[in-house]
Parts: sequence; structure tokens; C-alpha cells
Amino acid sequence: MRFEGRGVLVTGGGSGIGRSTCLRVAAEGARVAVVDLRAERAQETAQEIAASGGRAIALTADVSKSASVDNMAASAIDAFGPIDTLVNNAGIAAGDDILTFDESTWDLNLSVVLKSVFLVSRALLPAMIEAGSGTIVNVSSVNGLTGIGEEAYSAAKAGMINLTQNMAIKYGPRGVRVNVVCPGTVRTPIWDGVVADKPQIFDELTRWYPLGRVGEPEDIAAAILFLASSDASWITGQTLTVDGGLTAGNPRLLEDVDIDAGFPDAANQKEGL
Ligand code: NAP
Repeated sequence: MRFEGRGVLVTGGGSGIGRSTCLRVAAEGARVAVVDLRAERAQETAQEIAASGGRAIALTADVSKSASVDNMAASAIDAFGPIDTLVNNAGIAAGDDILTFDESTWDLNLSVVLKSVFLVSRALLPAMIEAGSGTIVNVSSVNGLTGIGEEAYSAAKAGMINLTQNMAIKYGPRGVRVNVVCPGTVRTPIWDGVVADKPQIFDELTRWYPLGRVGEPEDIAAAILFLASSDASWITGQTLTVDGGLTAGNPRLLEDVDIDAGFPDAANQKEGL
């Protein structure tokens, strides 16, 4: 029960990785504020927690809008008490080519993915600083680490990593830890549009993953809970990549290297022996 007595707020808690994080952290004793754009989604997660004997509140907010975020944060603290753990998880992915997507697509990605981290952190940090303790986990992506498409989304995700580092060094001395996770492909509703066009997408992507499967929301939730827990009490400003080995290297490159034939140098050395 690593989260007994703690108040945890998760944005995008009505679906996918956020929902799984809410359920797991509630099972470990936390009071959970489930925040989502759609009220019914937040309520579903909160009801699931309550049905298992946990404590949760459902809140609606658009995390890209400061007034909405400030209202939501005030309601969370009023109704639920102090929030010591924030998971900035809400996200969207739109647009795949800077020559074809429009300015509003760029703005939407930057607002929902990156500006939201600024807005929600700004709303909850003062209470953490006053308490002298708190922790924030940002959910970025492998797209923030390297070039794999979805340019606006990826640029915003890369920005989250730098923002995490700056927040960590600035607020570490005030007792607040800030870290970021970078998931690879995870089977969640964010993929629904792609799956509708290409039902086999996860099977196709699996060949890129050394561990032989794409991720499940629980894989990421486990990493988020670790970073948010006291198990990570001396970890801040760090990027934890949770991607089944995707960014460790390229397994398809190995297919083009004929190991059995050996490298010329190795063959010569054997002859010399
Ligand atoms: P998801 O199932 O679609 O969950 C995202 C949640 O965020 C949804 O409930 C969505 O609400 C909510 N949301 C979207 N815009 C919002 C806004 N403006 N204000 C408040 N809530 C908003 O997707 P997921 O895969 O779990 O994504 C969670 C995080 O993981 C995202 O930041 C995503 O970029 C990141 N990630 C996902 C993957 C992956 O392969 N799944 C990989 C790397 C990183 P609605 O559905 O009602 O719009």
C-alpha cells in the first residue's frame, strides 16, 4: 500500500493509461481525483474505484484551458483535500505531416499535450511547495525521444521532457520530484481511429518490439506508480522509457546481418589459430 493517505490527481483518467493508473493507485490506498474531458468517462473510472472499496472523485476539465484547469484544481482540493501527486497524462495525437496539417492542428497538439502540463502543474504546485513534498509524473512518449512521425505531437512530447527537467531542478529543493515516462505503442483507445482503418496495426507493430508485444496500459501505470512512490524518493528529472525495448535498437537490422557467415575479420582470426 504505497499510496495510503495520499491524494493523487490523474488527467485523462477516464481512459487507457490514465484509467489504469487511477485503478492501480486506488488499490494501493490513494484518494484519486479522476480528471477527464468527458464527465461520463471520469465518472466510470471513479465508480469502478468506489465499487472496489476505494475513494475517488470525478472531475471534468479541458486541460488545455487555464480557467477550466483552475476551477478543476480548486474543486479537487475543496472536495478531496490536498493533492500530493499529479500525473499529467491527458493527450491526443493528431496530424502526421507538417506540409499537410493546418495551424489549428499544430496549436491543438501543443495545447493539449504540452501547455496542459504547465497549466495543471501551475495549479497544483503551490500546495505541494507549501507542504514541502509532492511528486509529478508526466506522460510523454517515445515520439519525444526520436523521429517517428506525428510531428506536432512529437514536438510537444519532446517539450515535456525538457519541462520535466527544469521543473525538477527548480522545485527539488522545495521537496517536489518531477519525472517523465516515455511509453512505446500501448493498446488504448487513442488508437481507435487507426485500428478502424487497419485492424491488424498492433500485430504489424509487434515486429519492432524486442519483447514481442506492444504495451498494455498496466505496463505504463506500473512505471508511473514507481516514479510517484517513495520507492523513487531519490529520483527526479529523469526520463523512464517503457517501450518493450523499441528504442534499445532496431531488431530488423539484425535480420540483415548474416551472423552465421561470420565477419571477415573473425574468419581470418579463426584460420590463424
Ligand atoms: P486515451 O485512452 O485516448 O486516453 C487519453 C485521455 O485523455 C482520454 O480520456 C481523453 O478524453 C483525455 N483528454 C484528451 N484531451 C483532453 C483535454 N483537453 N482535457 C482533458 N482530458 C483530455 O489514450 P492513452 O493512450 O491512454 O494516452 C494517455 C497518454 O499516453 C497520452 O498523453 C498519450 O500521448 C500517451 N502515450 C500513449 C501511447 C499509446 O500508444 N497509447 C504511446 C505513448 C504515449 P477523450 O477521449 O474524451 O477525448
